[in-house]
Amino acid sequence: MTDIKSMLPEELAEYMVTIGQPKYRANQIFRWLHTVGVGFDGMTDISKSLRDKLKESCFVPDVSVAAKQVSAIDGTVKYLFRLYDDEYIESVFMRYHHGNTLCISTQAGCRMGCKFCASTLKGLKRNLLAAEMISQIQAAEKDTGERVSGVVLMGMGEPLDNYDNVLKFLRLVNHPKGLNIGHRHISLSTCGLVNNIRRLAEEKLQITLSVSLHAPNDELRQSIMPIANKYSVDELLQACRDYEKITGRRTSFEYALISGVTDTTALADELGKKLKGSLCHVNLIPVNEIKERSYKTASRAAAAAFIKVLEGYGITATVRRKLGSDISAACGQLRDEHESLVN
Ligand code: SAH
Repeated sequence: MTDIKSMLPEELAEYMVTIGQPKYRANQIFRWLHTVGVGFDGMTDISKSLRDKLKESCFVPDVSVAAKQVSAIDGTVKYLFRLYDDEYIESVFMRYHHGNTLCISTQAGCRMGCKFCASTLKGLKRNLLAAEMISQIQAAEKDTGERVSGVVLMGMGEPLDNYDNVLKFLRLVNHPKGLNIGHRHISLSTCGLVNNIRRLAEEKLQITLSVSLHAPNDELRQSIMPIANKYSVDELLQACRDYEKITGRRTSFEYALISGVTDTTALADELGKKLKGSLCHVNLIPVNEIKERSYKTASRAAAAAFIKVLEGYGITATVRRKLGSDISAACGQLRDEHESLVN
């Protein structure tokens, strides 16, 4: 079966030709799939015979809401979505004064193995299709009745470990005939696959690259993130500097504050020395505690002291504003809870 929702209009036009249809059908079908978000049955300006033909050879990999939690504090909505093959992923809908942002998943599960992360506990199930990334946005818009104007690829999975589908998603979501969300309103978060950061730079997209650094040196980083055995901190930072040079976009770094592990002022000092002179921004994330691990979150005082040290090096750092703290669950926790209920 062909996944036509993951095709750009020009690819869909080629596909139409292969099934004996005029190219212009592609525009109609793309609009139905990407702006209206309906399946074949809802395509009212397409003949019944063509709809039947499409149903025989194509599929639309939609997502459906399996569960959701709504924050009573700020209206943040956390979704558990079911995929067509009964895999589960999560998305989080966040309201900011400048608009609504959706945090989407790029893989079901993850194989990166970061020690503090719930998404990776059961490994990688599969890569998401580009269409399934689009469908998360459409499902959240449909459920909330509100428009999503920003997207962060920070949910389950490692976007750069699903490079081709993520790149296709970035082109689809930005398409004027589709959801038309500007690349400047999109952030991609990676644990640091240096080879693919370099590939992405060459695409020259105006998205924000957000790098999960979490430690200023190799020894500490290797103890919490297996990817650090493959790429050193220095190699990673060099790739970020090159990314900035090629795209003109400044990188942001995520740094999880784990009490007694990553949150000391000595480490802040080391980080300050490494990042000094760059235009980056550091997002400090007090680690979300997950029950499978013993990591404890950093205190406010430790976070404040960490920021002060970084500022001494001219680096701006903020503690990530915590939305939905009452439904707070680190990435992957909702899925894990769901699986332990159904299994
Ligand atoms: N794989 C990508 C994107 C998904 S994770 C990446 O690594 O960047 C999104 C962010 O959440 C990453 O910075 C990740 O390190 C962080 N994260 C994962 N588990 C966390 C936890 N328990 N507490 C705080 N941040 C966490």
